[in-house]
Amino acid sequence: MNCYDCAVADTPAAAVASCTTCGAGICLTHAHASSYLLHRPSGMGVATLPRAARRILCATCRDAERSSSG
Ligand SMILES: [Zn+2]
Ligand SMILES: [Zn+2]
Repeated sequence: MNCYDCAVADTPAAAVASCTTCGAGICLTHAHASSYLLHRPSGMGVATLPRAARRILCATCRDAERSSSG
């Protein structure tokens, strides 16, 4: 699979990951990794799991999330 953003720019590059949100292939240049904590219902409350999970977004989805959540 090739990086979608690179393909659009007519400079094909191999993808190293795929966007969690849109599923597009993304190269290292266009990949934006972030970590987030998982929550699991526990009794009457919610427990936060001790280890952070990872999600990788393309630039488009990263910007979209930024503008929606501030
Ligand atoms: Zn790329
Ligand atoms: Zn995306």
